Amino acid sequence: MFLRELTASVSQIKGAGPAAAAMLARLGITSVSALLRHYPRDWEDRSRTVPLRDFSIREVYTDVTVLGHEWFGAGHMKTLKIHVEDDTARAALVCFNRPFLGKQLPVGAVRRIYGRFQYKYGELQSSAFEIEGPGDRGAVLPVYPLTEGLTQNLLRKLMKNALDLYAGSLENELPQALIEKEGLLQKPEALRAIHFPASIGEKDKARKTFIYEELFYLELMIGKRAKERKKTASQAKRSGQGELSALQKRFIQRLPFTLTPGQLEAVREINRDIDNPPMARLLQGDVGSGKTLVSFLAALRAVETGDRGQAVLMAPTELLARQHAENAAKLLEPLGVSIAFLTGNIKARGRAHLLKALAAGEVDIAAGTHALFSQDVIYRNLKLAVIDEQHRFGVTQRQAIMAKGEKPGLLMMSATPIPRTMALTVFGDLDVSTIRDMPPGRKPVKTHLARESNGGRVYDFVRQELAAGHQAYFVYPLIEANDGKDKDAGNLKDVSSMARRLSQEIFPEYAVALIHSRLEEEDKRKTMDAFRKGEIRVLAATSVVEVGVDVPNATCMVIEHAERFGLAALHQLRGRVGRGEAQSYCFLIYSDQEVPREYAGTRAELLSEEERSKEGKRLMVMLENADGFVIAEKDLLFRGPGQIAGIEQSGYLALGIADPLRDTEELVRARADAFEILETDPELQKPENLCICRTLEQAPPFRDVGL
Ligand code: ADP
Ligand code: MG
Repeated sequence: MFLRELTASVSQIKGAGPAAAAMLARLGITSVSALLRHYPRDWEDRSRTVPLRDFSIREVYTDVTVLGHEWFGAGHMKTLKIHVEDDTARAALVCFNRPFLGKQLPVGAVRRIYGRFQYKYGELQSSAFEIEGPGDRGAVLPVYPLTEGLTQNLLRKLMKNALDLYAGSLENELPQALIEKEGLLQKPEALRAIHFPASIGEKDKARKTFIYEELFYLELMIGKRAKERKKTASQAKRSGQGELSALQKRFIQRLPFTLTPGQLEAVREINRDIDNPPMARLLQGDVGSGKTLVSFLAALRAVETGDRGQAVLMAPTELLARQHAENAAKLLEPLGVSIAFLTGNIKARGRAHLLKALAAGEVDIAAGTHALFSQDVIYRNLKLAVIDEQHRFGVTQRQAIMAKGEKPGLLMMSATPIPRTMALTVFGDLDVSTIRDMPPGRKPVKTHLARESNGGRVYDFVRQELAAGHQAYFVYPLIEANDGKDKDAGNLKDVSSMARRLSQEIFPEYAVALIHSRLEEEDKRKTMDAFRKGEIRVLAATSVVEVGVDVPNATCMVIEHAERFGLAALHQLRGRVGRGEAQSYCFLIYSDQEVPREYAGTRAELLSEEERSKEGKRLMVMLENADGFVIAEKDLLFRGPGQIAGIEQSGYLALGIADPLRDTEELVRARADAFEILETDPELQKPENLCICRTLEQAPPFRDVGL
């Protein structure tokens, strides 16, 4: 039996009555398998004591003597507080809703307690503590994610009972040879040790076993899929060069410039994919490298397939989606291709009409936001889904749009390069096109760092650029004045007040406008239109302009409080300028103000000298590098693993216990092992690989990966 095959109901477990079963169900646990795979989020190490004095380092675990009882509050809010001491300090145990603890901790008694303490109201106190029960001394105890009503003690008991009943008969999902080679534990042992390890060392070994196993299967599935793709890809090589189609040629002839070699190569690769489905391609190219045009060409090709296909261009913001729709209309409609624009804000009559046209195939290309995969949207013949700024979308959203057609091709575009380890896991089975060149005539953006106190000089410089006919962006981290709720924000400038200042005091002679995410879409659209036409010269914005916005006449990007932005965001923002022939500039203004008294003790003040210099170094990366790929790597170094912008939030990869960014070492080894097995035994027919075969068939660890 494999762990995943233990489908028996949890109510089989001794102690899991209806009440417990209902609580477990709230955690998504209904089967024994799910219960045993509810791994601890932490472990309490009771193999050595931690005195009260060390409360700030870790949980306290110490023998205390009870000094006295005290009650505070009134009525049913009356709460017991128990004063205790150990050899190092005194503390108070606050017994919210636990008056019965008074009996267990009578004055004069000595008890071993475990708990988290903090310094509050002039004393050391804890309301999250337990009195040690018999048999816990010296153990390493699991700490589980809980839900209301469920206690650690109950869950521990259930887990023990489930282990006693089932663990012994479990089989390994990994071949024996791998377990030995990697120094992993056998399944029954691993399962016991992850829940109730004899020592911290054993716990580590058990975790490693589960992490490795998960990553092995992830990589195995990626490897399998990559192999299938390669088969079709090599057929594709034989069957064509990805020549440009008639419509594509006409489109290119009408452009005022020629495609860069990188763009042309990407289009050829996409054409080959479309001729040889299934297509799943990642188009990488630094901001400004001209990925949008490539996606238009891809859409054209999809429209031309067989019985006229359809394509969607999906973008994360309405602003960007609209820009795509407008450009597409301008460039593609003259070729007889019909374009539509679909967002959540298009309502009632207009929407009904649009949906009908999509279902009837009267619309060839639809640009839009998430609305493109709303339930009521039906396509007649969706052949290609283009996802712009793909890092802003999650797996489920990708799946939702793909489900709108019969195996449509997938083209994901990204200017935020995926760090290598991530790419290995998530995109291990995707084909990748990379545009390495920039359209000719671009001058690199000149970047300057400026202290806030020198802001006036930056404004003067921008004034000269405006006088020469150019335009400028000013970007701020907040929409409205800090109301004091976010103390961490200190005295940050906000875009609403700054738009006023820019227009009334700093650039009274020029038209200034404000844009941020909370404005009405219609107002945003008008503002962007006017900025694009040059009627508005200065745009005060938040990071809504981070993705995609393309106004070539804008030559200045001023980012205030640059220290509040991640490197990837700064790079994207900087990419909004330098899109035309003129020299462009980016100013990163950072705060150098004293911390005002009311914020004393907040993060701003606590920033140590070292952290300040780290901030400086981080911004220096922007001065020294223009290459988005390099900046992404450095960003990762500064943030530390596990914190890539936008990745966790969007549910990039829903793994169980493994984290590919943290567990890089295991990942690399699991990948090598999985690929080697696929190489030597592609059909997984060798007896020693039988367990792999059975796992994939009977208890697959992932339903789908990546796509
Ligand atoms: P990104 O790759 O960041 O999405 P865009 O597609 O927005 O870049 O392109 C940036 C700008 O470059 C646009 O104004 C576009 O018209 C222009 N552009 C694209 N390709 C070329 C080219 N081959 N030659 C000159 N300009 C180009
Ligand atoms: Mg773009």
